[in-house]
Amino acid sequence: MLERITNPEEVRTWSGAVPIEHVYTVGVAGEVFFRAIKDRGRLVACVCPDCGTDYLPPRLYCERCFAKTADYRDLEARGTVHTFTVAHFDLDGRRLATPELYAFVRINGSGGGIVHRLGEVAASDVYIGMEVEAVFLPPARRTGSILDIAYFKPVV
Ligand SMILES: [Zn+2]
Repeated sequence: MLERITNPEEVRTWSGAVPIEHVYTVGVAGEVFFRAIKDRGRLVACVCPDCGTDYLPPRLYCERCFAKTADYRDLEARGTVHTFTVAHFDLDGRRLATPELYAFVRINGSGGGIVHRLGEVAASDVYIGMEVEAVFLPPARRTGSILDIAYFKPVV
């Protein structure tokens, strides 16, 4: 596959299967983020030292000024519902027996947030600005995934 094709009429195709395995890495900042979720049940944000933009989830470089970010800090997994929706169909287009709630939750102490499920609340009771907190899986069941957070529930 090193040849360079300059004439598109010379492109050839072939049929068959190509076995490919891949590993997705979350990167340096992503590892900090997911380890905090798995090991401590916390969220981590970082700040750009040049322009002050904060990131949650953290990024290694600022996407506004390209400076290397720093100042990783733990945040409680609490925030407010910025927006939400009710899903009536699954990813394959099948109707869900019970509609699911999804929200963009702005995390307290950060300008960032997370899209995640809402639980322990009826769709008719959700509102923009509702205070919510993460419900984590038990530590033994966590895998270092965003799904280590089962859902966000209203703060009572
Ligand atoms: Zn910056």
